[in-house]
Amino acid sequence: MTAYQILEQLQIGEPTIAPPTVYRTLSALTEQGRAHRLESINAFVPCRCDHVESVPVLAICESCGSVEEHDGSDLLPKLTALTDKKAFHSVRHIVEIHGLCGTCAA
Ligand SMILES: [Zn+2]
Repeated sequence: MTAYQILEQLQIGEPTIAPPTVYRTLSALTEQGRAHRLESINAFVPCRCDHVESVPVLAICESCGSVEEHDGSDLLPKLTALTDKKAFHSVRHIVEIHGLCGTCAA
């Protein structure tokens, strides 16, 4: 969901809730690893794994909008090797893959 969609849902029960509250909460949840920001579509999904240090791989269905989260921790050494070549210090990794989910592809 986008931040705006979340705000709309919350305002059904709490009409006075304002956008900064939603943005602050999403920011806190993202920092705690309890939600992921989908950078490519500017939306958020709850984290469904209990990972601490990992590489979330988010498969986004372009037809129904579903998002599957996978643990891409095995990718970390390869990603780090890529950025290390230029002495880049990575802080976080997010891999987003666009396509069709199994249901929509069938
Ligand atoms: Zn789908």
